[in-house]
Amino acid sequence: MRIGVIGAGYVGLVTGTCLAEMGNDVCIVDIDPGKIEKLRQGRSPHYEPGLDELLARNIAERRLTFGHRTAEAIAGTKAVFFAVGTPQDEQGAADLSYLEKAMRDAAGAMTGHRLLIIKSTVPVGTNRRMAEILAKAGRRDFDLASNPEFLKEGAAIEDFMRPDRIVCGVRSPRAEKLLRELYDPFLRTGAPLLFTDPESAEMIKYVSNALLASRISFMNEMSGICTAMGADSELVRKGVGYDRRIGTAFLFPGLGYGGSCFPKDVRALAHVAESLGLEAPMCRAIDRVNVRQRGALLPALTRELGASLKGKKIALWGLAFKPRTDDVREAPALDIARHLQRKGARVSAFDPVAMESARRELGDRIEYAASAYAALDGADALFICTEWNEFRSPDFDEMARRMRRKLILDGRNLYDLETPRAHGFTYHSIGRPSVAVPARKAKRA
Ligand code: NAD
Repeated sequence: MRIGVIGAGYVGLVTGTCLAEMGNDVCIVDIDPGKIEKLRQGRSPHYEPGLDELLARNIAERRLTFGHRTAEAIAGTKAVFFAVGTPQDEQGAADLSYLEKAMRDAAGAMTGHRLLIIKSTVPVGTNRRMAEILAKAGRRDFDLASNPEFLKEGAAIEDFMRPDRIVCGVRSPRAEKLLRELYDPFLRTGAPLLFTDPESAEMIKYVSNALLASRISFMNEMSGICTAMGADSELVRKGVGYDRRIGTAFLFPGLGYGGSCFPKDVRALAHVAESLGLEAPMCRAIDRVNVRQRGALLPALTRELGASLKGKKIALWGLAFKPRTDDVREAPALDIARHLQRKGARVSAFDPVAMESARRELGDRIEYAASAYAALDGADALFICTEWNEFRSPDFDEMARRMRRKLILDGRNLYDLETPRAHGFTYHSIGRPSVAVPARKAKRA
């Protein structure tokens, strides 16, 4: 099938590339000329494991092409995915202006029937609103489907190729038939293809994200109580998660969630509810706890180094909002870097893949180290913000040799409590007792 994809971001590029991998002819368009230029050279504009290989194969087989204009994604295609951004606007609602613009452009370029598929995360009612835009532009010959995406950055290819479920909100048998045909190759493992009305499909995405975010915020709130009560949040997490009714996923205490989805989607859901005259106290609390959690380790830092960080150097491990991505949107690390810098610290950061995206946000306010160990040279503390695998088993002796002061603030609970202490480190983590080297030993170290 010939398919168009509008938006070559984290979702659109994976969607288009995976559809091409299944034998479809796919044209992906984006208004960002830099992205399209890179893609035409066979390079992904962002880091996603496994994506470069798929891109190379499908470009070489001529199943995947790229363009700048919406019309290129419409010409000769049967189905068109809309995967443009829906960022948070000033009121905390989803900004639908990119989608509306793309829909108007599509309306202007359509010649015959098209299945228009909204993949972007959009509030309930958007499908209807887009149908009105198309109707106003004089279009009658279309079906409009709402097909929210559930992929996770860092495992996006795997998630798209082997989804837990695919949700399609449709109003016509014709749209359902085409979507079945499109998605059939991705459902060989027996995952369900759920057809709903568009409003329910739109809502399923928000409820899924809010529920996952609620588990993170709930566990983070509990981790604060654990600290105060002298309990170990990691043991509590395990003990709770073994209950099959609860499960272990999304219960890791840390610095809170970030990224381009959970923060904005939880706020957008609350905003929609409130604009309908309803209250959304749970959504608001999920967000509040998450924002507060970024500062969870700052009191410990102040106790150790004092209120002013003038003349102090802090090493920061991890800038991406989570491992296996270069996405720094709403990354806790950026807030922490800004805070440390405001307090007068010199910040030296390292991330395996997100240094360039972080530099676009933070500029030269911080230093970007050549390696995780280089970031530690002369540092008074190490702040761990992202749980990259390569930070999990570091050479603590090497770290100790490089740092001026052996102090670790671990926002992702990467280490057991004993190991850092055995190497002479004072170690603060989330919801667990702080461990310090006895004074006598510390002097010798
Ligand atoms: P993104 O910002 O990475 O990509 C969006 C792309 O759309 C950008 O490259 C932008 O230039 C392009 N664009 C905007 N207007 C355009 C137009 N008129 N024509 C062509 N291109 C246009 O965003 P993303 O992370 O891929 O997210 C896209 C949507 O999917 C959002 O609604 C998001 O909430 C949702 N989503 C994201 C993820 C994720 O993990 N990133 C997961 C599920 C759902």
